[in-house]
Amino acid sequence: MNYPNSMIMLEGFNPTLDYALKLDRNDKLSRFRERFYIPENTIYVDGNSLGLLSQDAEQSLLRVLNEWKALGIRGWLEGQRPWFYFGEQIGEMAADIVGAEKGELVFSGTTTVNIHALVSTFYQPAGKRTKILADELNFPSDIYALEGQIKIKGLDPKKELLLAKSHDGRTLDEKAIVELMTDEVALVYLPSVLYASGQLLDMEYLTAEAHKRGIPIGFDCSHSAGAVPHHFSRWGVDFATFCSYKYLNGGPGCAAFIYINKKHFDKEPMLAGWFGYVKEKQFDMSLQFEHAQNAGGWQISSPGVLGSSTMEGALQITLEAGIENIRQKSLMLTTYFMQLVENTLSMPPFNFSMVTPPEAKNRGGHIALTHPEEALRINEALKARGIIPDFRQPDIIRIAPIALYNTFLEVWQVAKALREIVENKEFERFPTHRKAIS
Ligand SMILES: *Cc1c(COP(=O)(O)O)cnc(C)c1O
Repeated sequence: MNYPNSMIMLEGFNPTLDYALKLDRNDKLSRFRERFYIPENTIYVDGNSLGLLSQDAEQSLLRVLNEWKALGIRGWLEGQRPWFYFGEQIGEMAADIVGAEKGELVFSGTTTVNIHALVSTFYQPAGKRTKILADELNFPSDIYALEGQIKIKGLDPKKELLLAKSHDGRTLDEKAIVELMTDEVALVYLPSVLYASGQLLDMEYLTAEAHKRGIPIGFDCSHSAGAVPHHFSRWGVDFATFCSYKYLNGGPGCAAFIYINKKHFDKEPMLAGWFGYVKEKQFDMSLQFEHAQNAGGWQISSPGVLGSSTMEGALQITLEAGIENIRQKSLMLTTYFMQLVENTLSMPPFNFSMVTPPEAKNRGGHIALTHPEEALRINEALKARGIIPDFRQPDIIRIAPIALYNTFLEVWQVAKALREIVENKEFERFPTHRKAIS
């Protein structure tokens, strides 16, 4: 993946407040912030975990609520965006954000359920090819799902799940992954961005290498969709899924997306359900399953229209801003933060470092900041100051300045807070154990 701005440099960088304000003055996306509800007295840098509510998303949710009120069951066909076509239409709306062609994207299910639905189709162990290649840094839910799918096929995950190792516990080497793509591998399934370190894998390269060896490949793009442009169709990715509540700002519990390359439209959805039926004939109520010949075929149940209706408004903002512009600003925000850390926080007594790869083309939308002893308590001290990052084991503070609603001033304030928390030993007030959700 070659972004024109793969080596974003901030001209005339210096760590002053004035410089932060200057970056904000030159920010072409600054107008979008006012369409979001920013929690009061808060610097919110956790949009990689749960994006914020926008007025647009609130409006589309209220519209659907009112449709239900006014139309009852007629909403399925008479809603402004008829609920019956909700999954397909939202999929079509989001297609350009991930480079999907007509019919290749549908808005349906949830990430982990979609992984099951997709892998049950694309993992077809046969002869010598029985293994799934994944990685040891993946999100646990993805690994649980892969193991379950291997067991469903009557095989042993201990033998058939091959996890690419990380040499540093933080990042993966794409070439080493490719070396594991042997003739025993039936499927490759990888994340786009590693949820902890923020490394962005080269999906185009991995797809090309898997295909050279005759192996289908799918991606979990939950940590990149809405922050990084994708070109699924051009790259030839076989399938993908991603949630909508991180950088896409759909809200908690909002549905996920399913991408199926059109060359696979005739494949059989194994977790079959009536919403995967050929649309025009679904209400024939035939007991003979005939799946839609597009990504819609992998839908299982009635769409959760009410809880996912936020997506329409949230997507409008992303489309209006433009995914390339979002990526550009996101890289500027994260580059700025990295430079602040390097220049003001990396030396004693601060001792912060970063495990996110430095090159723009190798990172997603967040920065993984580490501290040798006190990451957990520093994270708590940030929260006590109204700064919301999150913590991931064992020592990572994730900072995600979001292109649509964060400012350079906020990034500067986060760096200043980190400095003061260490200088004043503010973290010492907090316990050393972790809460249920950090
Ligand atoms: C966020 C995320 C999930 C979340 O799964 P849900 O089924 O939506 O709870 C799964 N995998 C990855 C890689 C993620 O980033």
